[in-house]
Formats: sequence, C-alpha cells, structure tokens
Amino acid sequence: MLYLGCHLSSSKGFLQMGKTALSIGANTFQFFTRNPRGSRAKQMDPEDALALRELMQNNGFSAIVAHAPYTLNACSSTPETREFAEQTMADDLRRLEALPGTLYNFHPGSHTGQGMEEGIRLIADQLNRILTPEQHTTVLLETMAGKGTEVGGRFEELRAILDRVELRDHLGVCLDTCHVHDAGYDIVNDLDGVLREFDRVIGLSRLRALHLNDSKNPLGSHKDRHEKIGEGFLGLDTFARIVRHPQLRGLPLCLETPNELPGYAAEIALLRGLE
Ligand code: FE
Ligand code: FE
Ligand code: ZN
Repeated sequence: MLYLGCHLSSSKGFLQMGKTALSIGANTFQFFTRNPRGSRAKQMDPEDALALRELMQNNGFSAIVAHAPYTLNACSSTPETREFAEQTMADDLRRLEALPGTLYNFHPGSHTGQGMEEGIRLIADQLNRILTPEQHTTVLLETMAGKGTEVGGRFEELRAILDRVELRDHLGVCLDTCHVHDAGYDIVNDLDGVLREFDRVIGLSRLRALHLNDSKNPLGSHKDRHEKIGEGFLGLDTFARIVRHPQLRGLPLCLETPNELPGYAAEIALLRGLE
C-alpha cells in the first residue's frame, strides 16, 4: 500500500485535517502539534480526535505524523531552552494519547558548540526522562541535513541516541529525503546503498516514516532548503524509485514541499502515478 500525504494546517482541528487529506487524495498526513514559532498548545478535543480516528479507519489511513515545533532544542547549551523542549515534548506526548498509534517526529537538536557527543547525551537523557512504558506514540528522530551544529546529519548520531535510550521500543526514525541528500547520502545515484547503510547503522526496522522533499541544493550542501518534487537536485526518477522500493512499502510518506493544497494534490497524484 502506498501511503501518501503532506503537511497540513491543524488550525481547524483533527477531523478537518482528515477531510482535507481525503480531498487531495492523501491517506496519511503530518501536522504541527502547536504553532512552530510559539509555545501555546492547541486545545485537544477528545471528540474531534475520535472523529478523526474513525475517518482514518474507514479510509485506510496509515499512522499519521505529529511534528514537534522545529524550534525545540533538547541539546542547547542554554538550560532554559532544554527545559522548554522537555516540557513541550512531554506535554505533546500526553496530549497525543488521544490519537493512539501516532508517530511523533522531532528534530534531535543543535549542540550549539558543546560538541556532538554532549549533544547526543543531552538528547538521550531528555528522552529517558519523558518516555513512559505505557505510551501509545512512537517518537521519531528525524534525519537532518547537518547544518551548523545540528545533531542527526549522520546515521551514526541517531544510532548513538537510540543506544542511550532505555525505552527505545518507543523510538524510531523518520528519513527526510532532502535532509539526507543535503547531509551527503547519495539517494539519487545509490538509493539501495543508502538504505543498506541505514540498515547497517540503525536497522531498517527503525524506519517508520519518510518526508518526501526535493532539494534546492546539491549533494552534501548541508543547507536544508526543500524544493517541489522533481524540480530540485533529487529529480523525479529518485522519487519513482522511492515509491516503488519494496523496503519502503507501507511507510507513511509525507510531503513538506513549498506548496499550497492544490500543489500538494498534484504531487500526490504524480507520485501515485509513478508507483
Ligand atoms: Fe522536520
Ligand atoms: Fe522533514
Ligand atoms: Zn527540512
């Protein structure tokens, strides 16, 4: 099954996101748990969450992806920033229990000069404080472009975080195609090789979702600027290989390309046509 969707605005609630997804041919989607720039949490209406669960069940959706605010930094050198990330993620995980089985994706963080090892330690320590044995959400570390002091540009860095987390059964990885390419993994010429490397270092069973984005920049640029599907350095053939790849089958694939809804609908149709 090909599960395709895109990033949607959560301003009108859960059921509305499900309806919007259906209207653009999607059978999964991603949303921000709260305003990415601000800290205020959205109201979590249990009836609205239940209505979405029903819509998803009736329409064969895969798991959906809740994205943490990208401003959170679990490994900042500033204690207040780390504390804010911890409180926000803990609160998000509590609220996501209304949608059991959801994937909660976050950017591991930027070590802001403390060094990669210290960054990895701070991220893992934070996860060890907020994950609970009874939670129904899988927390995903997103592969990053390796911009600045970002943690997660190398598969080894994500593996090192996983190794330090006790409840790692509740952890997975979300592979962002723009990010891994910008980080230097050549999915254009050697998708199989990159997946082999992912499997060797992290284990493919940890791969729970993908972000489908083309890139405005060449391989290894460490930039992280998303482009529309087929209009960047990845190109349409790369996405054709991804949607056809047997090892990626059944995973939710979410677009985060620079588009409004009609553009997303067109990209979803384009990708379905490539399968
Ligand atoms: Fe992200
Ligand atoms: Fe992403
Ligand atoms: Zn990005």
